[in-house]
Amino acid sequence: MRRKLAAGNWKMNGTGAALAELEALAAAHPAPGVDILICPPATLLHRAAEVAGDAIAVGGQDCHANASGAHTGDLSAGMLRDAGATAVILGHSERREDHDERNDDVRAKARAAMEAGLIAVICVGESLEQREAANTLDIIAGQMSGSIPDQCTGENLVVAYEPIWAIGTGKVPTLEQIGEVHDFIRARLERRFGEGVGRSVRLLYGGSVKPGNAADIFGVPNVDGALVGGASLKADDFSPIIAALESA
Ligand code: PEP
Repeated sequence: MRRKLAAGNWKMNGTGAALAELEALAAAHPAPGVDILICPPATLLHRAAEVAGDAIAVGGQDCHANASGAHTGDLSAGMLRDAGATAVILGHSERREDHDERNDDVRAKARAAMEAGLIAVICVGESLEQREAANTLDIIAGQMSGSIPDQCTGENLVVAYEPIWAIGTGKVPTLEQIGEVHDFIRARLERRFGEGVGRSVRLLYGGSVKPGNAADIFGVPNVDGALVGGASLKADDFSPIIAALESA
């Protein structure tokens, strides 16, 4: 019922030369059995959309909450869409930390993204300190109620669970820990939006997903795919992750 999704977050990595990796990925997956999304830096978005072709979608890594105006350096959801994006990552922990983004900001951006016709990939996740204090589920609950707008559906919302301590560190939660949080997110979505919508929203795990651990993670119930940072930069790394998701 939920189409699986392999999403790559290139972060602030890549100039035009990196498009060769996207080209290689597109050549390796001409008719993928899962959705593939690559979120390059905004400077590459337009060219990436052309290189990616029909089999791979491209997305932004952030957007402004307003449609236009005096916001130097920012990009609106409509601009991302105009450049070829069909989705945008919002509330990534690096933006929450580097730019002091709060749940309210993320919710406003998500609303703008949905109004512009983009899928909002909303990130939630606890710090190591919060996990060690046994606060993980409370943190996730607060981020979900604060960051996810009311008008969401299975078509315009994806939730990515990304424990901050697992991002770019090589540390991965146990499969039980991943399962516990994903089940919790699913239950909360169903409670807030009803079973139909709650069951149709895709849930991604993110945090040090690699070719070697992807199959195990994709075997966890309520994991509908992954949001991948470092291992999405090279086609040779991301391709086996996509293959593992196709076989899950
Ligand atoms: C991310 O930044 O969204 C991420 C999951 O990074 P990595 O895969 O490198 O841990």
